Amino acid sequence: MATTTMISFEEAFNIALGAARLLETERVELAQSRNRILAQEVRADIAMPPFDKAIVDGYACRRADLGAELQVVETIAAGYAPEKSIGPGECAKIMTGAMLPEGVDCVFMVEHSEETESGAVRFIKEETSDNILPFAKHMAEGDIIMSPGHRILASDIAVLATVGCVRPEVYQRPRVAVIATGDELVEPEIQPSPVQIRSSNGIQMCAQVEAMGCIATYIGIAKDTDESLDACLSSAMQGHEVVLFSGGVSMGEFDLVPGILEKNGIKIQFDRVAIQPGKPTTFAYSDDLFCFGLPGNPVSTYVILEILVKPFLFAMMGHEYRPPQIRMRLASTMKRKSGARKAWVPVVTTDDGRIEKVDYHGSAHINALCFAEGIIAFPEGATELKEGSEIDVRLILT
Ligand code: AMP
Ligand code: MG
Repeated sequence: MATTTMISFEEAFNIALGAARLLETERVELAQSRNRILAQEVRADIAMPPFDKAIVDGYACRRADLGAELQVVETIAAGYAPEKSIGPGECAKIMTGAMLPEGVDCVFMVEHSEETESGAVRFIKEETSDNILPFAKHMAEGDIIMSPGHRILASDIAVLATVGCVRPEVYQRPRVAVIATGDELVEPEIQPSPVQIRSSNGIQMCAQVEAMGCIATYIGIAKDTDESLDACLSSAMQGHEVVLFSGGVSMGEFDLVPGILEKNGIKIQFDRVAIQPGKPTTFAYSDDLFCFGLPGNPVSTYVILEILVKPFLFAMMGHEYRPPQIRMRLASTMKRKSGARKAWVPVVTTDDGRIEKVDYHGSAHINALCFAEGIIAFPEGATELKEGSEIDVRLILT
């Protein structure tokens, strides 16, 4: 029951992301902030480094004195202020991370030093870098160091810790309900009858949604009946902003998801997209709910969630998602019969650092993705990708 005309993936993407609503914000403990999207500007509350700092273990002195024997007047550990200033012919033994004493412009490494019989030290190399990190080299007090929309990764947590941002303000996480559909499906723990298969999409979609930092609720398997779909949708409507269906959106007699969406006042924006896999991808929304109907074949479900639903969910958190992508050369020519739709194909790197197609029999070939490292696209109209040509590889299998 297609209700709209087929549109390009780019159009579908723009319609969906254009409809995304920004969620409210909340504060979280820094240790719990990984994968959350920052909703505030973060400024440095201190300079980094906060003082001129030694970056090696060694001796701090005047560069002009490097050829001389130097009297050690003090030992300065990290975390302690120097007590003396260094005059001509003098030096301080200093540890990595410690504050430089007054009067010096150079630190030579302990490995490049030798103690003299009188207890002085001498520099024994031809030359040395200064080995000094100047005050505020990396950030000055008040500098903007992170902006709203930034996705907080482990390395960012270190930066936030450095500036004392211990309860960052972040966007709330979309609550996503997941419904698998199909009379042929049983839960993975059930032994299927000869006409059944185990449902893999439900658990897969939950895992994908959780990996990007959203909250997933698995509703269950809906039968291919209006009653069952309606009941699952009703329970998904409670406490979720987004519902993901797998299956039930194609042209079959029992593909009833679009009808149930309409019946519940959830208006379909598109239900045919010129992409392979994923042609029957459906997007609908009402005032308080967004629904995606993803095609049931597992590779379609996986790919469409990655390339459409994931950027949409990030948009709800104020983050513009840029998928990781690298350009690589194709190891052998790839052909297809029709160029009617843009088509994604799973690929793997070869030993000589190029890419090739994995053994892939189409969107039902669930285990093909286990061997893939990314996907590449035949553009619309193209039926051949030539050996040696440079192709963007999208790394979706993260
Ligand atoms: P559909 O989109 O409902 O026509 O389903 C397309 C194909 O995907 C059929 O072969 C289904 O059996 C299969 N399929 C649908 N849902 C799932 C699921 N949750 N897990 C695994 N395969 C599924
Ligand atoms: Mg079905």
